Amino acid sequence: MKSRRTFIKAAGLVSVWGTIPPALAQSVIAADSQIPVWGAEEIGFVQQPLSYTYAALEPVIDSLTMEIHFTKHAAGYTKNLADACSAEQVDIAKAKLTELLAKISTYSTKMRNNAGGHYNHEFFWHSLAPVHDGQANKPSGDLMEAMGTQFGSFENFQTQFNEAAKNRFGSGWAWLIKTADGKLKVGATPNQDNPLMDLSELKGTPLLGLDVWEHAYYLKYQNKRPDYIAACWSLFNWEIIERRFKNA
Ligand code: MN
Repeated sequence: MKSRRTFIKAAGLVSVWGTIPPALAQSVIAADSQIPVWGAEEIGFVQQPLSYTYAALEPVIDSLTMEIHFTKHAAGYTKNLADACSAEQVDIAKAKLTELLAKISTYSTKMRNNAGGHYNHEFFWHSLAPVHDGQANKPSGDLMEAMGTQFGSFENFQTQFNEAAKNRFGSGWAWLIKTADGKLKVGATPNQDNPLMDLSELKGTPLLGLDVWEHAYYLKYQNKRPDYIAACWSLFNWEIIERRFKNA
């Protein structure tokens, strides 16, 4: 199994994805269709390539939004995280991002915003999959069972998640998490905070995160955040979310 990174190295381009011009990265991704699709569970300090093209999530998320979101917003968080790490003596070759997040209160606001911003986006890209063509898009197995126990039904969970996403005032994220005592919980965090941060009110292992910053939807949905949230249900990749639940 040839990884994306190996492919790039073999092609003699560069050693890390972050430095490839986006248009080129996209063409390389498209060319290498044998790549494993959902592997990046362990999120590091480097922006990983998308497992799909910018247009792959249409019509729910338009291509231009994806391109700007990935190459400008998310890439910006990654770069600023590297700068903050350099300024605050964090060796990104050795450090673990989840451990950094767990003691984020001991670092600067710049570190908080960009460590969160980078982690949340890497997590988000892998929570989505190209539109399920009219197929029921729901979890199964243990996660579905836990949802029944915890929320009464999958539909009740959806209602809670929609409310959390809609009611997050300003910018932020809606989450499904697994708490330390093994329970499922829905909530939201402001700005680029996330449930792995020691200073977050909502604490636990993220299973699903939805970006509700305007930059995630404004080109297509303008002020209609609820329409964006409703449409995203067809994109959630329950295969990987179930795996996160199992591993949490
Ligand atoms: Mn975003």
